[in-house]
Amino acid sequence: MLENLAINGGPQIKTTPFGTGNRFGDAELQELKEALEQGTLFYHYGHKVKQFLQKFNEMYGVKYSVATSSGTAAIHVALGAAGITAGDEVITSPITDQGTVIGILYQNAIPVFADVLPDTYNLDPISLEACITERTKAIVVVHLAGNPCDMDAIMAIANKYNLKVIEDCAQSYLCYYKGRLTGTIGDYGCFSTNDFKHISTGDGGMVTVNSGQEEDYSITHAFADKNYQRFDHAVSRDIHHIAPNYRMTELQGAVGIAQLDRLDWICTTRNTYGTMLIDGLSGLAGIYPPRITEGGVSSFWFFLFRLDTAMLKGSVDDFVAALNAEGISCVRGYIPQPVYLQPLFQTKEAYPGTNYPFNLSEVSYEEGICPQAENVLQSSVRMGISEFYTVSDIEEMIAAIRKVAAHFIKEGFN
Ligand SMILES: *Cc1c(COP(=O)(O)O)cnc(C)c1O
Repeated sequence: MLENLAINGGPQIKTTPFGTGNRFGDAELQELKEALEQGTLFYHYGHKVKQFLQKFNEMYGVKYSVATSSGTAAIHVALGAAGITAGDEVITSPITDQGTVIGILYQNAIPVFADVLPDTYNLDPISLEACITERTKAIVVVHLAGNPCDMDAIMAIANKYNLKVIEDCAQSYLCYYKGRLTGTIGDYGCFSTNDFKHISTGDGGMVTVNSGQEEDYSITHAFADKNYQRFDHAVSRDIHHIAPNYRMTELQGAVGIAQLDRLDWICTTRNTYGTMLIDGLSGLAGIYPPRITEGGVSSFWFFLFRLDTAMLKGSVDDFVAALNAEGISCVRGYIPQPVYLQPLFQTKEAYPGTNYPFNLSEVSYEEGICPQAENVLQSSVRMGISEFYTVSDIEEMIAAIRKVAAHFIKEGFN
């Protein structure tokens, strides 16, 4: 006999609170104290941002990276360093944070959305290649929720058409693709340390410069700092092109140093929990856990799984409500709809009162351009994962989904 669903008055699966913990401790306090004692909070005079980057570079095995004020800033800096300018087209994923496209538009370039794969939710290389035009200059790949994109296929396309590749790693710390860390495979890797990411400095970000060339580093560094050339003997203020001020402060760098020490544990724990969830849901009729890209290791920033509503009674929202009643918090989808369905793209008005830069190109943002992305967001359920959860929290998440699925499955499918 099936136990009654909690939403219908039955017993809840999850009756104890989820595990919690403190993400900041004495190590962060000590670093902050030292930062203040320097008498400067400017990254170029102090040591904290430099030390933070040095530590990050060692973890990632890269020679150069640049600190920024946010992940959005990191992506803008990479685009600027890559030479993206007015009228260029940049292909990216429609399932992402707004921060992925902001820098494209600030360079007066035009975002083009390629479709995703239905099971990894990451860019589909075939759709990506079909989006390439004469104007295409770069690809911003998004390793969604820690799952790496199919980088062999994407790099092959980039090489064929001579495109720059920027990896948006805001959700993918310490993720691997065929043994290589995401963020080190394309030309630039962009990270976020906003308060919701694996590690937090309040706000902040990093850009890796993967060519390892000093000149590329210098260009990238300058683009995050008003195009000042700080590595010449005298600071050069001969500004040839516009660049924003996206500097990270010593306070953020200080917290970042201590946070990096926690990163390996955070990502390993999340990988264990995400893998448990995938295993616990596999083979369950009507439920599709995410597929980790071949050769990939994910650090699961969140857990998004799909429902086959043709096999289930009730809607995705009904399923979510039943799961919530069992004591498992979850929501439908990740973002409500693909990025291109936002009013900004529908009206092609990034800057009030003008259609520039959209009017430089003929890109479409009509509903239906990325059917898989639209389906994924309609038919999926997102649950948070935390490194502070316990193994029993994860077991109860699985038990709750299995219980709800058993009630929702239509006759003949179970
Ligand atoms: C968080 C995030 C960003 C933006 O980072 P911020 O630090 O919030 O500016 C960009 N891309 C993705 C995929 C993100 O998750």
